[in-house]
Amino acid sequence: MDFEFTEEQNMLRDTIRRRMDDLATPELIRRLDRDQAYPYELYEAWAEMGLFQMPFPEEYGGLGGSVIDMVIISEELSRKSFDFFTAYGGTLFCGLNLLRNGSEEQRRHWLPKLLSGEVKFSVSMSEPDAGSDVGAMRTTARRDGDSWVINGQKVWATGAGAKNNVINVYAKTDSSVHYRKGISLFLVDNDTPGVKMRKLDMLGRRCVGTYEIFFDDVRVPADRLVGGENNGWHCVLSGLQVERVASTAGYSGAAQAAVDMAVAYARERKQFGRPIGTNQAIAHMLADMQTEVEAARWMMMRAAWMLSQGKDALREISMAKLFGSEMYVKIANMGMQVMGAYGYNMEFDMQRHFRDARSVTIGAGTSQMQRNLIAGLMGLKVQ
Ligand SMILES: Cc1cc2nc3c(=O)[nH]c(=O)nc-3n(C[C@H](O)[C@H](O)[C@H](O)COP(=O)(O)OP(=O)(O)OC[C@H]3O[C@@H](n4cnc5c(N)ncnc54)[C@H](O)[C@@H]3O)c2cc1C
Repeated sequence: MDFEFTEEQNMLRDTIRRRMDDLATPELIRRLDRDQAYPYELYEAWAEMGLFQMPFPEEYGGLGGSVIDMVIISEELSRKSFDFFTAYGGTLFCGLNLLRNGSEEQRRHWLPKLLSGEVKFSVSMSEPDAGSDVGAMRTTARRDGDSWVINGQKVWATGAGAKNNVINVYAKTDSSVHYRKGISLFLVDNDTPGVKMRKLDMLGRRCVGTYEIFFDDVRVPADRLVGGENNGWHCVLSGLQVERVASTAGYSGAAQAAVDMAVAYARERKQFGRPIGTNQAIAHMLADMQTEVEAARWMMMRAAWMLSQGKDALREISMAKLFGSEMYVKIANMGMQVMGAYGYNMEFDMQRHFRDARSVTIGAGTSQMQRNLIAGLMGLKVQ
């Protein structure tokens, strides 16, 4: 067993940490969150640093990195804000999907633009009546000559309204069969005629933005279909494990930042003439918080390692996702308790963790759906 990163991985982590410390100052993070402004300046810096190149093969301009490299990047971006990870991950996961399922022509066309930061990608699966139940999706795409025409409505789309964003939209292309055999994936520029978007007012993750999208006779050329007609479910499944493990790395990075903030505060803040961290009640809370982060982190790392070895890790990743997301919610809640009223105040940063964390047991598959999946893999039939 080897619990160490390689020298290159340590360098990758240190480089990103230093650069993010320079660029993502507390003032910038607060401003982006307060103004609900997309982190364009950071996105450009990530592209310049080659972070989008990391997991792609060299033949497409990538760096040939591993899943472990991806989780290192995810943790480091999330240490500043989990929302930064969502901007990075959204593009990356859709790009990896294109790599796995796109045609050679599509790869050559899109990947250089994606790796250089020229275009961003977001994913749109969820609909008002289709959340956990993906099969209830009603958005349709119908072939018309050399194009596809998309009609319907999507919701909760992270980052869909950013400049130069291409929406990776799943739509029904055959309603007569089971949804697993009848959905397809399309790439739709967010300024295509017929696409209307509304930015939603969410509790957290306010910087990258969450959108409702209406598709009204949206026409895209045939080469915007990825993975072939009625092959959308395969696209979803093929990336599920990598996406979930990287998201889980995001939870550990963000939660560690919340612990660090609470520890620093407990050392500084004096009540009754001494730092509050000298109270066993507070010190134990902090010790529990760090222990929870470590547990979640190592579940995630093991799952990432299994993936990097080409093993199937669905069970391990689902458990790490479940545990890690619930851990971040817990940590943010405890961190707020440690900081008292300052934690509850909008001028301090713990409240952002509290708001952002609340989304992670819902997004990327709810906690209940993870439990259903894990129980199913344990041989239990869950209704
Ligand atoms: C901040 C944020 C960003 C998001 N970004 C995106 C995005 O970029 N693209 C995208 O497509 N989607 C996105 N989503 C949507 C997300 O994937 C859905 O919210 C999620 O799949 C759950 O769907 P729902 O919200 O409709 O809840 P529902 O499916 O309606 O569930 C409501 C409750 O019922 C429970 N439940 C439902 N079915 C079962 C069952 N069979 N067994 C047990 N419990 C069940 C759920 O766990 C939950 O507690 C985002 C969501 C959030 C909060």
